[in-house]
Amino acid sequence: MRSCGTCTLCCRVLEVKEISKPKDQWCQNCKPDKGCEIYETRPKECQDFSCLWLGAPEPWHTALEGMKPNRVKFVLAWHDENQVLQVHADPGYPDKWKAFGKFFLSVGEQLTVAVFTPKGVLGVGKFAQDRWKKEFDKVDKLS
Ligand code: SF4
Ligand code: SF4
Repeated sequence: MRSCGTCTLCCRVLEVKEISKPKDQWCQNCKPDKGCEIYETRPKECQDFSCLWLGAPEPWHTALEGMKPNRVKFVLAWHDENQVLQVHADPGYPDKWKAFGKFFLSVGEQLTVAVFTPKGVLGVGKFAQDRWKKEFDKVDKLS
C-alpha cells in the first residue's frame, strides 16, 4: 500500500483554484516534506486529487513502481475529461522527467501526454520515438 509519506510535490506543482493557489508555487498551507496544515478542511480539489503513482489501478500501479514524485521530481496526473496523461515537472528540476523517456515512450504511443515545465507546455501525443526525441530537444531549446 503506497502513501504520500514525506512527498508533498503536488502541493507545489498543481493549481488549486478554490484557494487561488497558482501552479508551481508552494501552497501556503503546505509544510514541505511534512504535509498539509489544514488537512481536515483542505479544499475539495485537494481531497479529490490523487497522483498516478499513489492511486492508479493496475497495470499502471506496477509500471510506476519506483517513481514516487518527490524522488523522480515530477507528478503524474490523469485528466479524465480530456483523456490526457499530465506530467507536472518540479520547477526545481524542470528536465528530470526526461530521464524517464523510455517509460513515456511506452505509454505515449497509446495515450495523449502533456508535459508541464516552467519552460513551457509540451503537447505530446501518440508519438513514435523520433517525435519524442524532437520534443526532448524542444525542451532544451526553450528558455
Ligand atoms: S504527488 Fe502524489 S505521492 Fe506526492 S503528495 Fe501528491 S498525491 Fe501524494
Ligand atoms: S491546501 Fe493542503 S492539500 Fe491543498 S495544496 Fe495546500 S497544502 Fe496541499
